[in-house]
Amino acid sequence: MDANRDKNYILRCFELAVKGKGKVEPNPMVGCVIVKDNMILSEGYHEFFGGPHAEANAINNAKENLEGATLYCNLEPCCHTNKKTPPCVPLIIKNKIKKVVISSIDPNPLVNGKGIEELRQAGIEVIVGVLDDKSKKLNKKYFESFKNV
Ligand SMILES: [Zn+2]
Repeated sequence: MDANRDKNYILRCFELAVKGKGKVEPNPMVGCVIVKDNMILSEGYHEFFGGPHAEANAINNAKENLEGATLYCNLEPCCHTNKKTPPCVPLIIKNKIKKVVISSIDPNPLVNGKGIEELRQAGIEVIVGVLDDKSKKLNKKYFESFKNV
């Protein structure tokens, strides 16, 4: 079952994400897994505040060609440029990743669905909402900080 498989890889993202606990705040904890032919090619997580994002780490950790792979991430990949690190969406597109599975839409108004839209415009299949509740619990403070924005 694809749906169960997706959940398992997202659970792995959560496991990776919490490794950044205490170091990434006020950023969210994010983990990323890249899968091809049902095998994990690469993993990464957001390790410290101001450091590269989970998706960038997973892509850069990969030793194989990622063309046609599926990227799992507990938060929508970012597309905004007014921060220290380059945005993740162009990196995903450049590496010819075919499909992106995420838990939650980034509540940050600079992203908030725009990352997903850019991915889809590039012809990438995007699945949203896998274990969304758990993801929001994991980064409760981050999600709450945007409640009144
Ligand atoms: Zn990013």
